[in-house]
Amino acid sequence: MNQSFEKQQESQSAIRNPQSAIIFATGNPNKIREVHELLEGIMEVGGLQDIGCPLDLPETSPTIEGNALQKARYVYENYGVDCFSEDTGLEVEALGGEPGVLSARFAGEGKNAEDNMQLVLEKMAGEENRKARFYTVIALMLGGEEHLFEGIAEGEIRRERSGTGGFGYDPIFQPMGFERTFAELTKEEKNAISHRGKAVGKLVKFLTSLKR
Ligand code: IMP
Repeated sequence: MNQSFEKQQESQSAIRNPQSAIIFATGNPNKIREVHELLEGIMEVGGLQDIGCPLDLPETSPTIEGNALQKARYVYENYGVDCFSEDTGLEVEALGGEPGVLSARFAGEGKNAEDNMQLVLEKMAGEENRKARFYTVIALMLGGEEHLFEGIAEGEIRRERSGTGGFGYDPIFQPMGFERTFAELTKEEKNAISHRGKAVGKLVKFLTSLKR
């Protein structure tokens, strides 16, 4: 693990009350950042390092839902804490839903986001149907019960990269109703319409309804 990754994990996980915080079961610093932005002032969230759990959780299911559940179950079963995890895929209509559950390693093991985007752009060269969507599933483990929340952002694949914000496939994804890619939106704009923003919104609604 490199240093900046560790630092980012630390700085974003300084929870004030570990007893009442819910654990976000992910090792992905970009997801941590976005979820912390979305839950700021609403709910306190801890990280895997707060419970001494390694950051590379098992993720071997053939579906997005399965991966989300696998990560949350792993943490609940091994550490006994309430937690949630999320899994996301980019689904491109003309590619039959690819990269889908393989989004993180579309260009192969050890490749990065640039390689993954490049492969999508190559496969989409000359393709007129640019429709695509991001699909997120959040799996919540609460008192041993499992709950799923999904979020979808519809849009299209640009013909080339644009923008420097966000992460992953953001520079090639233009959400519906916008002339800019996710990577050209402000973080507030992306969070307000994104797959992750919608799924987190449902999670918050559910958790706050329990407190009444
Ligand atoms: P996973 O959910 O960690 O398996 O991530 C799946 C892949 O989708 C990774 O390559 C991420 O970089 C990418 N990804 C996840 N969320 C987003 C997003 O909000 N924007 C762009 N790419 C994303």
